[in-house]
Amino acid sequence: MAIDPNDKHKWIIDDEASVVVKEIFRLCINGLGVSKIANELNNRNIMPPGYYKITHGQWNKDSDYSNTKWSPAIVSEILNRQEYIGNTVIFKPDPYKRNKRKFKPMKPEELKIIENTHEAIIDKDTFDVVSNIRAHKRKNTKLGYVPKLAGKLYCSDCGEVLYYVCPREKYHNPAYFVCSSYRKHRCEHTHAIREADIEAIILADIKRMTSFVKNNEDEFVAKVSDYSKSELNKALKNATKEIDTATARYKKLDSIIQNLYEDKLEGNLTDERFNKLSESYEQEQKSLETRIKELQDFVNKENEKYLNASYLINLVKKYIEINELTDEIVQEFIQKVVIHHKVKIDGVKTQQVDIYYNGIGHIEI
Ligand SMILES: [Zn+2]
Repeated sequence: MAIDPNDKHKWIIDDEASVVVKEIFRLCINGLGVSKIANELNNRNIMPPGYYKITHGQWNKDSDYSNTKWSPAIVSEILNRQEYIGNTVIFKPDPYKRNKRKFKPMKPEELKIIENTHEAIIDKDTFDVVSNIRAHKRKNTKLGYVPKLAGKLYCSDCGEVLYYVCPREKYHNPAYFVCSSYRKHRCEHTHAIREADIEAIILADIKRMTSFVKNNEDEFVAKVSDYSKSELNKALKNATKEIDTATARYKKLDSIIQNLYEDKLEGNLTDERFNKLSESYEQEQKSLETRIKELQDFVNKENEKYLNASYLINLVKKYIEINELTDEIVQEFIQKVVIHHKVKIDGVKTQQVDIYYNGIGHIEI
C-alpha cells in the first residue's frame, strides 16, 4: 500500500506489497510472535518496506533505505496499522509534542480515525483477531511452556484475566488457572479451573459448534443475525432515549423563544434583555442539534455493525476435522472465555463457563 503520488490523501494498493502484508497477518494468527515473523520474512528474502520503496521508486524522506532486513518493530507496526482495513488515522495536532524531536508513540485518544476511506486489504475480522492476540501476548513460563489459553480466560465477577499456575514438578499437581484479583485479595472467589478441564470443555464446544455450522449453515446464519439484532437493540436503546430527550428540549426552547418574542412586543422586555436571552436559547438549540446529529450517526453506524457469521463459516470450512486444541485453533476461534466460580447445586459441584467466539461473541447454539 502506498500513497497516491497524484493525491497525497489517497492510498493505493500495491499488489506485490499487499501479499506480504496479508502473509504477516496470517503468520501472526498462526501463533508466530513478531520476532519469529521477522526471521521468517528474512529467510524468505522478502524486502522490508523502506528498502522495497527505494527499489520500487517510491522513495520518500521517511524511508529507511539502509535497512535491508525485517525487524520485529517493523512487523509490529504493520500489524497495528488501521490503514490496512481501509481507515485513515490522523494525529490530532499538538504543537508541544510536534516541537519535540524525540518520537513518542501516540496514545489512542490522540488519534482520529476515519473509517472506510479507501479499499481494504485486510478484513476487519482478521484485524480484530490479530489485535486480540497481540493485546494478550503470552508470556513464557519458567519451564518454557506457553499455555494455549493464557490471556484468554476472564473472571466472571471482577473481569480480570486468570493467571496460569504451574505447579512444581515434585508436587505432581495439575496446572490450573486462577483469578488474578483473588491472588491480590481483591476478588471474593478463586474462579479456579484446571487447565486440562477447561481445554477439554473448549475443545468439545468447538466440535459441537463446528458440526452445527457444517450441518445447519442457514439456521446458524439466522441465529447469529437474531442474536446480533438483540445485542444491537440494547446498545441503541440508550442512544434513542437521549435523542428523544434532546428533541423534546429543542421543541420546548422553540416555544420559550416564541414567548420571549411576544413579551418583547408587549413591551415587557427590553431589547437588550431580549437579545441576551434569545441568544443563549439559540445557542442551546445549536448544541442540541449537534448532539442529536451525533447520536443519529451513532445509531446509523451501529445498525451496520451486524455480527458476522461469515468469519466462522469460513473457519469451519478451513478445518475439516478438529481433534485437538492447538494454539492456532484457540487463536482463530476463541475471543475469550469467562469463568464463573464453582458452586454446589444439590450436592453436585458445577462451574459455568461462557465461551465467546471470534466474529460472533457468546451465542447459544
Ligand atoms: Zn475475580
